[in-house]
Amino acid sequence: MPVQMLTTKIHARVDQPLEGETSRTMPDQVGNVAGATGEELTDRIIETSARALMPGPLKKVIVFWLGGMGCDGCTISTLGATEPSVEELMTGALPGVPTMVLHHYAASIESGDHFTHSFEEAEKGELDAPYVIVYEGSIADENLTVHGEPWAAEGALPTWAPFEERRRIPTTEWLRRLAPGAAAVIAIGTCATWGGIPAAAGNPTASMSVMDFLGKEYRSVFGLPVINVPGCAPLGDNFTETVALLLLFLNKQAPLPEFDELGRPAWLFADTVHRHCPRAGWYEEGTFAQEYGDKECLVEIGCWGPVVNCNITERGAVGHMGGCMVAGGVCIGCTMPGFPDKFTPFYKTPPGSTASTTVSRLYGSFIRPLRRMTQLERNREPRWHDTVPSGWAMEYNTTSITHRIAEFFYDKLQYLGGERPGRQKDVEKYRSGYLPPAQAAYGEDYQVLPEKRQELARKRNLPQRPGLAPQAEEPIVSNVEVSATSREEK
Ligand code: SF4
Repeated sequence: MPVQMLTTKIHARVDQPLEGETSRTMPDQVGNVAGATGEELTDRIIETSARALMPGPLKKVIVFWLGGMGCDGCTISTLGATEPSVEELMTGALPGVPTMVLHHYAASIESGDHFTHSFEEAEKGELDAPYVIVYEGSIADENLTVHGEPWAAEGALPTWAPFEERRRIPTTEWLRRLAPGAAAVIAIGTCATWGGIPAAAGNPTASMSVMDFLGKEYRSVFGLPVINVPGCAPLGDNFTETVALLLLFLNKQAPLPEFDELGRPAWLFADTVHRHCPRAGWYEEGTFAQEYGDKECLVEIGCWGPVVNCNITERGAVGHMGGCMVAGGVCIGCTMPGFPDKFTPFYKTPPGSTASTTVSRLYGSFIRPLRRMTQLERNREPRWHDTVPSGWAMEYNTTSITHRIAEFFYDKLQYLGGERPGRQKDVEKYRSGYLPPAQAAYGEDYQVLPEKRQELARKRNLPQRPGLAPQAEEPIVSNVEVSATSREEK
């Protein structure tokens, strides 16, 4: 059956104004080489591709990324995401996921009032698509600022007034103004989800999380409480994956993803770091690193992994590579509520780990020797009874008598009621060394040319088949019978 191709006519260009458009004449758009707004570019992508034919009522969703008391680490990790990538979200490359229009203070192509304008439109309900708020950084108390200058701001209003008469708008104010009309509010990073470093003891900003700021009763227009993707910085893929699934839900293409009691994506934060840690085997055998650079479990030099909800040991930092314990660092609990205060002092044995490490040391002292013994045996072929045919290997019979007895019973137990695999003695043909059939027949002369081999075979009165080496032992009966006479004739 022929494959149906979906094609749409390309009828829109971004380098020419459409009727009624004015944004091609944005003289104050320093650096905006596109000469268009982000939304206009998205509209073109949708119009000139099959994205307009995607299922669901939404073709695009607008995202307002607000920056509070943060370090931009969340932005950087999001830009590095690959599953999916920001580019895929912004170009509508994912089936069923509406194309994302991103208003971000660093990534937007608009600047100045053109940037602020969309925020005003959103507040007035004049956008032609639903919008989602992403908040990065914690929320500082703007009453504590000096001379009324905000801790964190985006844009200045009113746009019709001269700049010196405008008021810079704190991002917390934008959050307060836009949250009631948002399809969803997502807090990204530990500062926004729980308060994080700006909310640590001794800070002068009285910082708090988005949940603390909007309150327990907050619901978006889709009925959603605040969604939290924590981490300092969070895994970019954790965030983009959550956004993609949320957009699928908003577009009626998937059910609402599962979130836990703290609003975290449940499928990402249900497990602890420890459960997927590459060093967890060392912990289980009661072997611990004493200093950085050691390969064993890091709990005694300050790892909080056994009690921290995070998937970095499963997903890696970027593109399934790296991550704290993989790179040799301890888990300091950066995804957790209470970070950093509840996890300090860093790099000191967590008090609660003493009981469990003592138990695993006891268990490990018994189990490690047993495993070593079995491991030694599993590194041997069944046919290697007395020695190992490797120039690197030790003699098998250097193992102790206890080892041999234990292995004897282990072997009996393992194959009890079953068939023992591997080659048995009676079928081991080359126990004293392997000789290719040709070498067995001709000795060291076997690597000569075929004519010479034939001549040698004739001299030694050996049977042979045309073109093939003669057999060393029993001649193989070929389906081509070659008589001595015919050989002579040849
Ligand atoms: Fe668990 Fe940390 Fe040890 Fe990994 S390094 S096994 S997370 S305690």
